[in-house]
Amino acid sequence: MRVAVIGAGILGASVALHLRQGGASVTIFDAGEAQATPGSFAWINASWGNDAVYRALRLASMDLWPALGAAFPGAGYRRCGGLLWDLPEPALRDFAESVGDYGRLVDRAAAADIEPGLRALPDLAFHAPGEAQVEPLAAARLMAGAVERLRVLGIDTQQGRPALRTEEGVSIFDAVVIAAGTGSADLLAPLGLQLDMSAPEGMLAWSEPVAPVLRGLLMMPDMHLRQNAEGRIVLGEDFGGGPGGEGAEEKARALLALAGTRLGVPLTLARVTRAARPVPGDGRPALGALPVPGLFLALSHSGVTLAPIVGRALAAEILTGARDPLVTPYAPERVLQSA
Ligand SMILES: Cc1cc2nc3c(=O)[nH]c(=O)nc-3n(C[C@H](O)[C@H](O)[C@H](O)COP(=O)(O)OP(=O)(O)OC[C@H]3O[C@@H](n4cnc5c(N)ncnc54)[C@H](O)[C@@H]3O)c2cc1C
Repeated sequence: MRVAVIGAGILGASVALHLRQGGASVTIFDAGEAQATPGSFAWINASWGNDAVYRALRLASMDLWPALGAAFPGAGYRRCGGLLWDLPEPALRDFAESVGDYGRLVDRAAAADIEPGLRALPDLAFHAPGEAQVEPLAAARLMAGAVERLRVLGIDTQQGRPALRTEEGVSIFDAVVIAAGTGSADLLAPLGLQLDMSAPEGMLAWSEPVAPVLRGLLMMPDMHLRQNAEGRIVLGEDFGGGPGGEGAEEKARALLALAGTRLGVPLTLARVTRAARPVPGDGRPALGALPVPGLFLALSHSGVTLAPIVGRALAAEILTGARDPLVTPYAPERVLQSA
């Protein structure tokens, strides 16, 4: 079976990997405009704010990450755990009660044992030992392998199969997966399909490398932090979009200085990244067959957490026609309108 994947971000890369493992001949097209994946905080989690069905999907994907990490050691996957206190105390207690053995509440002394480098300790936090981090761009590159650096200019149907147009001509495939992140809506519009999605921006500050100081991920009320494989502190401000525009670098510098005092390590800003998050209209993934023969969609926020399960489920659906029950609630029709 000949399959094209549009997009070499972490979702496209995982779908391509799983398709190849299933015996398909896969061509990945990527316009070379790195989007969400390189600018991702890359916290692998099933934390608060998820309904039970979505939580099950996230947990299933978290379970698949260790094998993927072992297959690609350069991806820097680490099951490092997360310490979270970005909720008011009653909500933190409710969350802890609702998630069974996902984690437990810890007091100040236990938090100090978990993160000995942390000076600004919380009185109460939630510790989730199964949470993890990865270097998302490295992971995507390793999973993707060879990529055609070509923009897909259009999709249509020829001889009952999907055909892609690039500046090098038209190629017909047995199946095409749109994993183009925030570029997905533009690819679907000419087919008469209006995709309901948004692309809120998020900002990250990256420090110069420092000696190991953080063991796991920290979710504080005003910032979230991790130390990446290069020793850089990666800092995000919130999950609702960054400040954007002018002043982002100044803000990043101030936040990093504050993080430095909390960790007892002076931190120097190396760079700021701003990236748009691909978010389907209702905030949940849009995964599976589209109402065009041979065309499939892989679109999601939390794509770093979900990459393994999305890759496995989409590859199975394309190769065998069987839909994984975990992704059944996330059919793309929900967020599509015929123009
Ligand atoms: C600031 C920030 C923090 C985040 N934090 C987390 C987190 O902690 N945990 C988590 O799980 N997720 C997080 N996310 C979300 C996660 O990063 C994304 O869901 C994920 O990276 C999406 O991957 P993707 O492959 O769908 O899209 P992308 O990485 O955007 O890749 C899409 C690719 O498609 C290509 N493309 C687009 N149009 C075309 C075309 N016409 N032809 C050819 N190629 C095309 C682009 O060049 C691009 O490379 C975060 C995102 C941001 C921005």
